[in-house]
This record gives sequence, structure tokens and C-alpha cells, in this order.
Amino acid sequence: MSMAVAAKGEGPAIGIDLGTTYSCVGVWQHGRVEIITNDQGNRITPSYVAFTNTGRLIGDAAKNQVSTNPFNTVFDAKRLIGRRFSDVNVKNDMKLWPFEVRGVGDKPMIMINYKNEKKQFAAEEISAMVLNKMREIAEAYIGSTVKNVVITVPAYFNDLQRQATKDAGVIAGMNVIRIINEPTAAAIAYGLDREGTNIAGKNVLIFDLGGGTFDVSLLKIEEGIFEVKAIAGDTHLGGEDFDNRMVNYFVQEFRKKHEKDISNNPTALRRLRTSCERAKRTLSSTTQTTIEIDSLFEGIDFHSTITRAKFEEINLDLFSKCMEPVKQCLRDAKMDKSIVDDVVLVGGSTRIPKVQQLLQDLFDGKELCKSINPDEAVAYGASIQAVILNGEENIEKVQDLLLLDVTPFSLGAERFDGEMKVVVPRNTTIPTKKEKDVTNVEAGQVCMEFKVYEGESRVAKDNRFLGIFELKGIRPGQRETAQVTLCFEIDANGIMVVSAKDKSTRKRSQITLTNNHKGRLSQEEIEKMIKKAERYKLEDRENKKKMEAKLALKHYASNTMDTVSNISNLNEVDKTKIVDAVETVMRWLDKNENKLAECENYENEMRKLENLCNSMWPKMN
Ligand code: ADP
Ligand code: MG
Repeated sequence: MSMAVAAKGEGPAIGIDLGTTYSCVGVWQHGRVEIITNDQGNRITPSYVAFTNTGRLIGDAAKNQVSTNPFNTVFDAKRLIGRRFSDVNVKNDMKLWPFEVRGVGDKPMIMINYKNEKKQFAAEEISAMVLNKMREIAEAYIGSTVKNVVITVPAYFNDLQRQATKDAGVIAGMNVIRIINEPTAAAIAYGLDREGTNIAGKNVLIFDLGGGTFDVSLLKIEEGIFEVKAIAGDTHLGGEDFDNRMVNYFVQEFRKKHEKDISNNPTALRRLRTSCERAKRTLSSTTQTTIEIDSLFEGIDFHSTITRAKFEEINLDLFSKCMEPVKQCLRDAKMDKSIVDDVVLVGGSTRIPKVQQLLQDLFDGKELCKSINPDEAVAYGASIQAVILNGEENIEKVQDLLLLDVTPFSLGAERFDGEMKVVVPRNTTIPTKKEKDVTNVEAGQVCMEFKVYEGESRVAKDNRFLGIFELKGIRPGQRETAQVTLCFEIDANGIMVVSAKDKSTRKRSQITLTNNHKGRLSQEEIEKMIKKAERYKLEDRENKKKMEAKLALKHYASNTMDTVSNISNLNEVDKTKIVDAVETVMRWLDKNENKLAECENYENEMRKLENLCNSMWPKMN
């Protein structure tokens, strides 16, 4: 796959932090990064997509209706992207999701009921919808169309997950100019933020505690390279766990106060959870807050308070658990904590004062980097990378730091004895092209098989299998006579083509990890999904028009009803005529409350009603 190049005249480039629970978008403008608020006024947008009877919802609107539509509201697509259905992580995550996932081949597909039809979506498609939403947020702010984008991924994402994320961008109709690591993006943000200091030569620990995942990375910043020295973390620890603790706390309180158990009522629980998340955020800046939910359960209003101290008490074990991966990461990098230059806070949950305090204590009181909003640092760095790659701006301090990235894992092929032959060592700067000579192990061999893996284990099978391809037509001969060059080529996005070439026959074969690779979408599938995405976008636009026509009719009908009942100089017969007509319209609207009719239908009804009223006007005046 060729490297995506930012085309001129395509407007500004944006940076998107495509998070597991929340996403964030930024753009470089007027000499600084602007993190853009969405239509709800929020600077982060839930990575949620919902399918309802009347259309598609993305972001806050989707998250807000999850309790009434649990089976057709999709979240956590990032946990699925680039993974196989047989992956144990997928199997375990599925147990926690209300929406259905099925294996089609070995690809996990999300099953949705949309407007009474069964539909299936790949994680790439759901992510594409979120990406598109983020782009629209940016376009509304910038006032022009946006095509070029930098998207971030976790440092531990493998080749398939990176490619799948890039595919999501392509499905959304974007030009993905670079995929970068989240910790690298955060480090870039701090590199720029620190006036007057050079970040080259520093050891930076990135502590990223988000909504549902926790990642610790140790980066060594050398000239032009962000080297990931070690990573650690917990794939199921984050803000949602803290929310859950608070939910349980209030469920018990409700039980004590009202002798009623709300734990089996999903709607009540979801409403409580939403309030708890809000309360949790508030407790990061105040020491006490209230929860007020009207008619939470069986008509009972629930009002209560919680202090920061209580919140810390019920979560202390989880907060403490966050310190273990930090120690692990330092051990793996063989680095003493005293030589860590900067500790950078990333992820919304690092706003929690107790988390900050525990981390600061671990580093013997060292000041933590938190001048950039932690839930925005990744999008911030991505936006800087975007503007530089777009060639719009020279930002001296970080300019040459940004053009290089490294391979997160060693890449190689399985040798005949099962060992991993590393062709591209871990942390090689990319883009790169590396070759190794290989030969036949058996006499008379006419075909060679290459199994490509990534990982650090000496035994190939213990690493992650990426793909397989064959080189045929080798001239049969003695063993070790064939001269074959195995070549790994990786572009700036970390996307790779592996090829083998027979020097004597000049025959060449390659694995287009982009095409016939199991688990990865084919070009054909991507094109289909692009069309599908465009169709959905059009449908959304039409639904919006229908919704507006419906509302207009509703308003007109109820206004007419008000007017008629307040008018005195209209005779009863005419009054009844109008009232009947309005009631017919209202009944029709009620009957189709959860469905949308065509715009014309609404407009027709509106016209009929208008004509009737207009014919009465002379009599009314
Ligand atoms: P992701 O894990 O998707 O990258 P974020 O880094 O944006 O997500 O983190 C989202 C989490 O941060 C949510 O659980 C949210 O409740 C939490 N959060 C956001 N703001 C605050 C705050 N002020 N105090 C505590 N938690 C917060
Ligand atoms: Mg994040």
C-alpha cells in the first residue's frame, strides 16, 4: 500500500483521537491547537453509534438513549477493530456487550436491527461513523470541508489493528495522512507546550487512564524518534469502573432508604449511571456533589450527596491498582524512576485528584505534566502532527521530531525450525525497507512458504501471526541453492508489504496484507462499505428533513387546535370540521410515532389542513 500524501487544496488537516469510550478532535489554527466542541458543547464525544426506528445517532445522542435501545447501540468498536472472531479478547468482551457479535468467516460482525431489517457492520464501519462525526464537528467549526486526517492508535496496536483503523478512515471518505501512537501524540503535545525546553533526549512516562482502558508507556525521545521502551497496562480498567462503584453505592443507599432494589431495572440503572459519571467529574474539582434523579424507580425521586472522600474510599483499591503497571513498565524498560524526566497525564480519568496524588507519590513528589487537558492531549498532539504533514506550517521546535515513527514490534518470518527470523527489529524507524536472504531447505524444492509474524518471542508460533504467502516456480536443485530475497517494506503509517523474490528466475511474490489477508477487509469490501457509508449519510440527511416536516406538521396541528378553541366568532359546524381534521392528523402522527413517513406525506397533510383553515379565515374575521 502506498503512503497517503496530503493533497494540497483539500483544506486543513485535523487530528482525531479515536478513543474506546470517547473521541476528541482538534485543528491547528492561528498558531495554536484548537480542541473543537461538538454540537452539544462538549469537547469529547462518546464513541457510540445507535440505530433507531427513525435513523442513526452518533455521539452524545447515541449514548443518551442507550438504556431504551441497548441491543442496537454500539460502543467499544475499538476493542473489536482488526481482531479476529476467534481472539480470546473478543470472546471475553462479547460477554459484556448488550449488542450481538457474530463471526462471519473469522471476522467479528456486529448484528443490528435497523428499521426492522437485520444489518451487519464491521468494527471498521462503526469506527468510520464515529470518525465521520468527528470530521463534521471540525467542519462546522472550521467552515470548510476537511479531508486530511491524522488518527491515533494505542502503542500496542498491531499491524492489522492499525490497518483496520486506517480502513475506517477510508470508509469515512477521508485521506488518512498518518496513524500515530497515542503516547507519541501526547508527548508531542507536551513537547510543544513546554516553552523553551527541548524534548529530545528525554525519558517520558505516559500515564493514560481513560474510560475503559489503562495504558502506561515509557518513551525515549531521541533525535527524530519516539522510541517506545516499554508498555504495560490493563485492558479493562478505567472511568467506567469508577462509575460502577458509585452506582453500586447508590443502589445500596436506595435499598436502605426505600427498601427497594433497583438493580434489576436497566433504565433506572442507566439513569443512575449517567448521573454518577457526572458526579464523578464534578468531584475532580469540588469536594462534595449531589445526585438528583426524578422518579428514578416506581415514582420515587432520588436525591443524595456524595463527598470526594467517599468516592475515593469506594475506589481506592482500583486507584492503587493503577500504580502496578507503572512499576512494571519501569522494570521492563530497566529504568529507575529517578531518570524519568516527565510524567505526562493522559485520559479523562487522570483528572481524579487521588489518582494524581498516588502517581506523584510514586515518583517521590515529582510535578506531573498536566497543563494540557488530559482528555485532550492525544488529539492535541495529533493536530500538531496533522498540520506539519499537511505542510501548512513550520513549527520549529517539534518539526523534525515528527516525521519519524517506529515499528512497535519486531517483524519477521518463521524459519524451517520454527524460530522467528527477524527482518525488521522492533523500534526501527519507519518508513523502512529491509531485506534478508533465504534459501531452500530441501533438495528439489519448487515452492517456498512464508509465514509472517510480529512479536518478540524467539519461537515464531508464540508471536502474532499476520499472514502467509508462497513463492512458486523455484528451479529444483540441491538444498540451499535457491537464492531468494525476503523483503519487508513498511510505509509511514506502519503498514507493510512483504515480498519474496527468486534471484535466478526473477519470479516475485508478495503478501498484499491489504488484500487477500484474512481478517483484513479487501479493497472490494472497503469500496462496498464506502458506498454503504455514503448511503447512510444521505439517509440521515433525508431522515432529518422528514423529522423537520413531521415536527412542522405537529406544531401546525397543535397551534390550529389552540387557535380554534380560543376563537369565538366561528360557528360550531366549522369548528368541528377543523377539530376533526386536526384530530385525524394527530391520530395519524401518533400511530406512526416511531416511524418516519415520506416528506411528501407530511407536506400533503399540512397543505390539506392549511387549505381547510384558510377557507375558514374569511368567516373567522
Ligand atoms: P478513552 O478511554 O475513550 O480514550 P478518555 O480518555 O476521554 O476516553 O476518558 C474518558 C473517561 O474519563 C470517562 O470515564 C470519563 O467519565 C472520565 N472523565 C472525564 N472527565 C473527568 C473528570 N473531570 N474527572 C474524572 N473523570 C473524568
Ligand atoms: Mg484515550
